[in-house]
Amino acid sequence: MVDRLVNSEGNSRRITAVEGCFGAAGQPLAAPGRVLVGEGTLTKQCRKGPKPRQFFLFNDLLVYGAVVLSRRRYAGQRIIPLEQVSIRAVPDEGDLHNGWLIQTPAKSFKVFAATALERTEWMSHIERCVRDQLDRKRRDKPTVDEPAAVWVPDASASTCMRCHRTRFTALNRRHHCRKCGFVVCAACSEHRHLIPQQSSRPLRVCPPCYEDLSVNSHNSSHGTSRRGSNGPVVPCAAGPDSSDEDSSDSGEDIGGSFPVSTTDFYS
Ligand SMILES: [Zn+2]
Ligand SMILES: [Zn+2]
Repeated sequence: MVDRLVNSEGNSRRITAVEGCFGAAGQPLAAPGRVLVGEGTLTKQCRKGPKPRQFFLFNDLLVYGAVVLSRRRYAGQRIIPLEQVSIRAVPDEGDLHNGWLIQTPAKSFKVFAATALERTEWMSHIERCVRDQLDRKRRDKPTVDEPAAVWVPDASASTCMRCHRTRFTALNRRHHCRKCGFVVCAACSEHRHLIPQQSSRPLRVCPPCYEDLSVNSHNSSHGTSRRGSNGPVVPCAAGPDSSDEDSSDSGEDIGGSFPVSTTDFYS
């Protein structure tokens, strides 16, 4: 669906319209590959109570702002990268129904939709976009291969550079650690370890490098090496909005009853 929309005229027109509604205070939103997936007014639980906010779901961002004039003017733009987002449904709170929690490392808040169907739609669209976004990041992540070590020339080592005992002779031949490039003796290079950027077969390495490689491969197999791609999202405290955003966008209270069902998904 996103693929179909990505280069469509309708998509660029909608994104331009959203930019226009935020005016000069908003960020540029058009970007290659970006798709506006849907938009609608949701009730956001803010520090000073529930407020209507216009939400825009892009395939990589969640953008929202205060409603100054419905479909014409929005203020107080907030932009949340979807790769940081996790969501879950929340129970009703008084008059507020069909809610879910939007969690990010920087800020978490609850929003409520006008109908159960809208909640289902919003949540499933958000979840799919987050998943696609994480998949894409994972695919595009450049493999940060460290360059292969430069081999120390044979002539510059007359004894093993690891044990400093073995003297090299016609019988005690020199070997090279494929990781650090040091000249080492047979005993100091009995280990083999996989260095995928160099070979599909395990390669000769010295004892310290073997230990290094073993520790690293252990870590990465447990997913603790890098945060971001699939690391756990650490949510901040949920609950009423504690940021200062409400002080910056007062005056947008359009009154009347809300939430009203206004959601459009462009699928
Ligand atoms: Zn040695
Ligand atoms: Zn080594």
